[in-house]
Amino acid sequence: MQQPTWRQIRAARRGAALATCAVLALTVTTSASTGRLMEESPTAAGPVSLARATTLSPCMINGTMGVQMSEGVPTPAGYSRSTGTVRALNLMVDFSDAPGEGTALDRLSEFFPQTSDWFRTSSYGRLDYRPESPITDWLRMPKSFKQYGIERGAPFDPGYRDLVQDIVAAADPDVDFREYDLVNILITPNAGPSALDTVLSVTFAGNTEAPVADGVPVSNASFVYSRQDDGSGSYRETGYRVLPHENGHVFGLPDLYTQEGGGAVGHWDIMSEDWGANNDLLAWHKWKLGWLDDDQISCASNAGTTEHTLSPLPTSGGTKLAFVPLSTTKGYAVEVRTQGGNDEAVCKPGVLIYRVDAEVDTGQGPVTVSDSTKDSGGCTRQPNVHAELSDATYEPGETFTDKRTGVRITVTDIDAEGRYRVHVTRP
Ligand SMILES: [Zn+2]
Repeated sequence: MQQPTWRQIRAARRGAALATCAVLALTVTTSASTGRLMEESPTAAGPVSLARATTLSPCMINGTMGVQMSEGVPTPAGYSRSTGTVRALNLMVDFSDAPGEGTALDRLSEFFPQTSDWFRTSSYGRLDYRPESPITDWLRMPKSFKQYGIERGAPFDPGYRDLVQDIVAAADPDVDFREYDLVNILITPNAGPSALDTVLSVTFAGNTEAPVADGVPVSNASFVYSRQDDGSGSYRETGYRVLPHENGHVFGLPDLYTQEGGGAVGHWDIMSEDWGANNDLLAWHKWKLGWLDDDQISCASNAGTTEHTLSPLPTSGGTKLAFVPLSTTKGYAVEVRTQGGNDEAVCKPGVLIYRVDAEVDTGQGPVTVSDSTKDSGGCTRQPNVHAELSDATYEPGETFTDKRTGVRITVTDIDAEGRYRVHVTRP
């Protein structure tokens, strides 16, 4: 067969984008009362603290019940913690009808050390991700792959429950599940369809109904299938990125792509696009995960005009996020994106402005980037990078206006240290 042309790759990938992993969040409706969420807890995700400055509370938007997985801050309990040392159990799994290709450690090496490096970089060193693989061979399942009935969108019951129970039974003699914060199931790539056709990769997060191993539920588990290989020759550099995306769910982040693909957020967050060139997370997500301190957030809740000096996202330190709350559930986020860190594909550095809505569920468009240059076609032609939004950023002299609320956000200038000055005006 012919090598696919870019056009074919992009077309194929459009399908893939529609089908980038799914997340099923079975979060805590009974165990996580508001009171508990505000406690310091070693297992709580995100920067949960009673001491949180009251100046920030208007910016701590949160959703109401009924949202499966929300952009709200703080992240509810039940997910894996996202700061400090996080121990990830990696199990490489194969089947009689899909025997492991190559060695299990080869499969592991498709994702590490890149995934740990990605988290170290994105978190400014706050997430020390430790991948462990106490079982170095393929873990053969007692049933064939076909028998588990794994398909895209398959619910946890019955197929995944069977699979997790069988994985636990097979691994238990060699694994103490209490030692780990999350589990990665790296399935042999020859099981199931090509990721170019259907992405099966999925995460079950906050799943307190999961099978129990060594007394703890396997409640935060990512399953990775196939290879996200677009044929461009970049698989070795970029194929691992499905895992930080999946683990993003384990830490409580929703999917930002929608039924229509990556058009809401483009390549500005790995929860939107995890194929192609490396990318980072939105500053909103970094705050949610506890990778930005509260004093790196500038909350624009007062009427009138306020000035905010924002330093570029890739560098550590400085104010990273200005947030303009519109209500207790939504607002505008403002941050500076430049090439650097995990951001490889930024072709127009500048100020990114996006709307965050904590009442919109995962995959339904909880974040929408404002495009400063609508219908421009974008500034990139890189494969698997959403082109139209690649030049969405605002430059000095440009203003974003929300006619409905009267909020105006103006980029005034860049100082000698590369920080962008932004004026927020609200009625
Ligand atoms: Zn996902």
